[in-house]
Amino acid sequence: MIKSVRGTRDLLPPDTALWNFVEAEARDVFRLYNFREIRTPIFEQTELFARSVGEETDIVSKEMYTWEDGIEPAELDLLPAWIAKHRDELKGFEIEISPEGKIGPIRPDLSLRSGSTLISLETKSRASLETVRQLARYGAELEASGSRDVRLYLLVPTGRATESVYRASREANVIIEELDVEIPQSLTLRPEATAGIVRAYIEHDLNRTGLLQRLYLIGPMFRRERPQKGRYRQFFQIDAEVIGPPTAGSESPSVDAELLEMLAKFLERIGITGWTLELNSVGCANDRPKFNEALRAALAKDIDKMCEDCRRRAVTNPLRVLDCKVPEDQPIIEKLPRMLDYLDESCRQHFQAVQDLLAAVSVPYVINARLVRGLDYYTRTAFEFTHGALGAQNAILGGGRYDGLSESLGGPKAPGIGFAIGEDRLVLALSKTAEEVSAPPDAYIAPLGAGMNRKAAKLARELRRQGIVVELGDDSFRLKKSLESASKIGARYAVIVGENEVKAGSFALKNLATGEQVTVPRAELAGRMQSLRG
Ligand code: AMP
Repeated sequence: MIKSVRGTRDLLPPDTALWNFVEAEARDVFRLYNFREIRTPIFEQTELFARSVGEETDIVSKEMYTWEDGIEPAELDLLPAWIAKHRDELKGFEIEISPEGKIGPIRPDLSLRSGSTLISLETKSRASLETVRQLARYGAELEASGSRDVRLYLLVPTGRATESVYRASREANVIIEELDVEIPQSLTLRPEATAGIVRAYIEHDLNRTGLLQRLYLIGPMFRRERPQKGRYRQFFQIDAEVIGPPTAGSESPSVDAELLEMLAKFLERIGITGWTLELNSVGCANDRPKFNEALRAALAKDIDKMCEDCRRRAVTNPLRVLDCKVPEDQPIIEKLPRMLDYLDESCRQHFQAVQDLLAAVSVPYVINARLVRGLDYYTRTAFEFTHGALGAQNAILGGGRYDGLSESLGGPKAPGIGFAIGEDRLVLALSKTAEEVSAPPDAYIAPLGAGMNRKAAKLARELRRQGIVVELGDDSFRLKKSLESASKIGARYAVIVGENEVKAGSFALKNLATGEQVTVPRAELAGRMQSLRG
């Protein structure tokens, strides 16, 4: 039997009611803070994540679902593209394109002749120095055998010729022409949402609005992690971001505090209590180099005892050492310098202002100086909400500021801050049950006797039009079976639709909890069921 892939799972009813509940509440709360929805693709170019999340992070170095998308173009496909582009100049040259798009008489040497002009074409999916040299030798042979006006072309897909190949081609009089044919590209299923949102922000020039963009996204993320309770390979995040030009106030500590207060509000709305907001500042481009230096110096004596990842990261990106989860490394990590002691004056003031504002709106927090988060783009405020009920994977959500991210992706200066709630873990931490957040169907309609399906369908349509949730039975069922089905689906009432009832225009309405049965005129059925809703 074919099963779901390890680390993925199906969400089935009634549990999906909990997911719907959480998402509906999130949308409601976000609306109160004027956030609007954004939807970005679930796959992006791999480079986006490498450049934003960071090459040295666990996510990028080990956990991404990445593939080469597309196949190498057939080299011959380049020829029709080239001929179409040069159609006008090639008048007088004899070219025949067969219906399949292949060049007929020109193969195999791919040369076009008109008078004394000879065009020799080579097609390659990637230009190499060797190809350029071969073409040059061939050109020399042609000239030696008396051809005049020989032009040598090397056709490659766009982006498939390096600088050194271009240099060699100029010396050898070979013309490289890049053509727009599809070539494979490296793509990745999104492991997180912020990079895609910032990419979209830049691509659609949202900075131009001069306003803060308050955006949220709900959807699946993908990481190849070792599956365990609360950790999946496809999981869902509820993500929100505030991003904009500095003139819109995007760097203000009040944006950080408002976002955290919104989270506290949201958790309260869905009935999650007992969370802890852990807060830290991871500094900025000004103070990070000093801190990295201090980390490297402190790590120097112990680094040989640490795991392989730490040993590498101590050199390439020492901040990532703080993110190491290997238990044996923790005593060493505990003694490392704290970023908070290295903050420059503006980062220190910013962090203090965030804390003051949180106190003003009564959002409790604790400082966790070890908190760095698993992604490189964070600056200044970094946070996580943890919850005791979750065991080892106790972070329900995390986020932080990313003031330099847009610029590092080639965009404008657009500081921002955001968070991602792990929806799978949030649902685990809920104390509500699926039954508590979903309404049972109002009525099960039981057609009684052959031919009654049509009458029942008509009544169902009338009731649904009045907002009654109806499940329709079948006239092949005996009454006993219909009533059993009605109880099993949790319907509050059964409505019996027999020949006599239809004729009389009144129906037997059976309360399935009490067993009580009354006869109700057709026009009053919906009202009766609505008025008695729990
Ligand atoms: P991150 O994007 O790593 O900051 O994660 C934000 C939140 O997403 C975490 O606090 C978790 O609640 C959740 N999360 C991250 N990875 C997973 C996973 N593999 N399975 C389930 N939830 C996850």
